[in-house]
Amino acid sequence: MLSTLSNFARREKRDGTRDSICRKCYATVRKAYWEADLEATEQMQVCDPATLE
Ligand SMILES: [Zn+2]
Repeated sequence: MLSTLSNFARREKRDGTRDSICRKCYATVRKAYWEADLEATEQMQVCDPATLE
């Protein structure tokens, strides 16, 4: 299920983990079980300029 509320999409996996994916550069920012872990990492994520070009 994808969220539309932030710059980061969520993808829930069958094993219970979630991926956080940056909507701008499409990098997988983090895989984690807990929402708080994803959010903490998202706040530090910096898009790679090479990916954006
Ligand atoms: Zn990014």
